[in-house]
Amino acid sequence: MANSDRNCLFCKIVSGDIPADIVYRDEHVLAFRDINPAAPQHLLIIPVKHIASLNDLVGDEDTIIAGHIMQAAKVVAKEAGIGESGYRLVFNTGPDSLQSVFHIHGHLIGGERMGWPPFPGASVEHG
Ligand code: 5GP
Ligand code: ZN
Repeated sequence: MANSDRNCLFCKIVSGDIPADIVYRDEHVLAFRDINPAAPQHLLIIPVKHIASLNDLVGDEDTIIAGHIMQAAKVVAKEAGIGESGYRLVFNTGPDSLQSVFHIHGHLIGGERMGWPPFPGASVEHG
């Protein structure tokens, strides 16, 4: 499978064809600010390789990529100043989650106290 999809918005951010506020980059992973932030800190962590969603992770190479995303999230959270205060890493996957861009991305959100669970009308504040 190709490592890039020329019709994919996030592949265009990886290649630089579409600008983004990039805060972290290494061989495997890119992190940039969400254009429509839902939290005081809202970064997107994506693999350089085009993979449409969590459902499309296949084989050992993708397992390693998934690990790189997690490791990068830790670094980016620290650099964004939310490493200790707390954050979530959310991978919307499929219609019920409202996934809208089909290149895997972890939403790294934080900077404010959150509620749980994330369903309308069911918000709960834990201690
Ligand atoms: P999803 O709905 O697929 O989980 O998340 C897609 C995210 O990508 C949304 O939070 C949306 O604001 C963000 N987004 C969409 N287009 C762009 C863009 O061109 N640049 C940036 N930085 N973020 C984008
Ligand atoms: Zn892509």
